[in-house]
Amino acid sequence: MYTNRFISNAFSIQRKNTPKKFSFSASTTFKVVENGVLMDGYYRDPSEKHSKGGREKHLGVDITGPTDGGASVRGKLNDPRRGLPVYSCINTIIPINDLNQAKVFNKTTNSLVTGVGIQGTGNAEMIEAKIKTQPWKDTSDHAYGGIVGFHCYYRYNNLQGTRSEFTAWIEFLHLITDEFPPRYGSSVATKDEWNALGRGNGWGPEIKNNAVVPPSFFQGPIYSIIGYLGATQSPHVHVQVAFHDGHSNSMQNTIRIDPLIFVY
Ligand SMILES: [Zn+2]
Repeated sequence: MYTNRFISNAFSIQRKNTPKKFSFSASTTFKVVENGVLMDGYYRDPSEKHSKGGREKHLGVDITGPTDGGASVRGKLNDPRRGLPVYSCINTIIPINDLNQAKVFNKTTNSLVTGVGIQGTGNAEMIEAKIKTQPWKDTSDHAYGGIVGFHCYYRYNNLQGTRSEFTAWIEFLHLITDEFPPRYGSSVATKDEWNALGRGNGWGPEIKNNAVVPPSFFQGPIYSIIGYLGATQSPHVHVQVAFHDGHSNSMQNTIRIDPLIFVY
């Protein structure tokens, strides 16, 4: 009886913890931050929240390092997560079905939408990506820090049997730069205080404004460093993705899609 009960419990635990596609699971780990974990997921209204929090929606994901170092350093300048590298881990192959079933928010109409409605089949493949360093800036807490954006261009087979293109504008927020040294508690580190810790600061060596990079830039086993997370009080990188059906060089911001389809 004990054995049966144990097996039964094991099954229910396993079922409960089996991650559904693109949904939050405590066991999900990332490469974009090495062994990184999801601190807060993407949600479009309070019913989709993963954790208790003040905000109504979060149209991106917050990813952080695996260890916060405990209460004595958590959130402090020397929090072990602060200064961790953020790597170029963007999927270069995306199933059209995933895009058409994704959670999407239309910022213009303020509406929750299922999928981006691509009229195509199979997998989209990245052609190339164009880098933008600090495409915009905002010193309020929700956007404070260095930002690197990628215009990622993908091609797919449309229903007419020819090739079409879409653009994913993928932004990485809250990176540490000389202009945006870490905020912690009610303080802001000086550039020198931060650099004295010997951790990361600024863009990775291959991150140049307007540089065009091939899909291999986003594929392992060696990844490029985008920057270093931790400009905000709670050290993490916020990743958000805007979708545009077509080729676009501008910062599209209307159709915001679940970033877990794009980052890994
Ligand atoms: Zn966030």
